[in-house]
Amino acid sequence: MYVTWTGKPPHFPRSAAFAGRFASGTLLRMAKRATKRGDERTDLSGSRDVLICGASFAGLMAARQLAGSGADVLVIDRYEIGERQTSACAIPTAWLEELGLIESEKQRFDSVLIHTAHGSIRLPVPWSFSTFDYPTFCEMLWEQCDAEFETAKVNGKADADGRAEVSRRAETNGDGAHHIGTDRGIISSPLVVDSLGWKRVLAGGAHYQPPDAPLSRGLEVHPPGGNVDLEVFINRRYVPAGYGWSFPADDEVRVGVGSFDPYFPVRPTTDLLADDIEVGKSAYQGNWIPHKLRPATADGIFFAGDSAGHCFPLTAEGIRPALYFGAALGMQLREVVEGKATRDQALADYHDFSAGHQWAFDWLLRAQKLLPKIHPRLVKPTLAASFRTAGSGDYAFNKYLNIAPPEFATLATRALVAGRPPVATA
Ligand SMILES: Cc1cc2nc3c(=O)[nH]c(=O)nc-3n(C[C@H](O)[C@H](O)[C@H](O)COP(=O)(O)OP(=O)(O)OC[C@H]3O[C@@H](n4cnc5c(N)ncnc54)[C@H](O)[C@@H]3O)c2cc1C
Repeated sequence: MYVTWTGKPPHFPRSAAFAGRFASGTLLRMAKRATKRGDERTDLSGSRDVLICGASFAGLMAARQLAGSGADVLVIDRYEIGERQTSACAIPTAWLEELGLIESEKQRFDSVLIHTAHGSIRLPVPWSFSTFDYPTFCEMLWEQCDAEFETAKVNGKADADGRAEVSRRAETNGDGAHHIGTDRGIISSPLVVDSLGWKRVLAGGAHYQPPDAPLSRGLEVHPPGGNVDLEVFINRRYVPAGYGWSFPADDEVRVGVGSFDPYFPVRPTTDLLADDIEVGKSAYQGNWIPHKLRPATADGIFFAGDSAGHCFPLTAEGIRPALYFGAALGMQLREVVEGKATRDQALADYHDFSAGHQWAFDWLLRAQKLLPKIHPRLVKPTLAASFRTAGSGDYAFNKYLNIAPPEFATLATRALVAGRPPVATA
């Protein structure tokens, strides 16, 4: 259904019944099995209808769209759900609202304050950004799923006899199932999702490795503190190609540096930025950040989120696209488990859907390459000219939002509601 998506937000008037069911929590209440720990970390070997590897933004969103389908869906991650925060957790507020996750919001901003080496400029945003609490976000998203979750480390593809494939070539093994090696056994499924992040663990062929692959790098600290502004620092004092940020989240600030050049060491200048704005240096966390779209399917495996390069160049915003493509994938998988499409059709349609966004990734990558070439004295005037003339700022921000618009989250939620009968409430 979503494969005809053109990037323009459709209009979905919400029915009172839908809004009522969402607000009452009927939509959110699902049966859940508890996660096993310690001695209960049993062998997981066996077959599942759907196996989702990675329980962060993309994986949880795909699982959500399968809720109520009746499919036996297993989600695995090396950590508990919400245990390891991977980002500054800023997202357009409307995505939190449309997914019923607004209670995870920590702080809201209707402008971005940009500091350059030669002055600051405030850019009003025609919609708002929010920072959110990662564990609450994940917990609430998981509440909307009816899948099973287990902690397990994914090692890669395995053959049917349980041997890890040396070449890691992703192949099905005659019975139509993929066999995935984990530290808790071999799990088989015809529908396997790799939402494991940039390493793309289940892909065949040559693997991306930093610093040579098209990956940016980011590092941040999360000291306690407070601020009112969402701040961005485009200043070579911190990074020659990239930007620094300070994203307040109620009782803490998330301060970091992202470099488009993977060779640039971000640790010293993350410290420098934290010192300059007089915040502490605690709770470091960082990762590689993809800035190129990669095929969303390969050798029968579905990829979503960072594993498919679903992270916008220039801004390094990866949560919204991970949710967006995760939702699209979940809806596509649902078609298969409900017998409305074959796996091959789902692979082709999802691949095309993702590839249909190449224009946006190219557009942002061009801007990413241009930014470091602008003379430092001209950064502020260029921003002023680009964002302040006759609504051009609104146009640019809206065009950016509409690459993965919140209306798509509405569509995903409506598909979820339509696809399952209401759960009886006590
Ligand atoms: C410092 C920093 C700040 C950022 N800030 C923002 C921001 O404010 N807003 C924004 O939109 N984006 C931000 N990003 C980008 C964003 O974090 C990513 O694009 C996003 O997390 C991608 O989501 P994902 O679900 O694809 O993958 P991830 O969030 O990376 O999740 C992958 C999951 O797979 C699990 N996993 C990995 N390998 C294995 C394995 N072998 N076995 C089992 N489990 C495994 C991990 O535990 C994890 O739960 C930031 C990135 C960085 C580095």
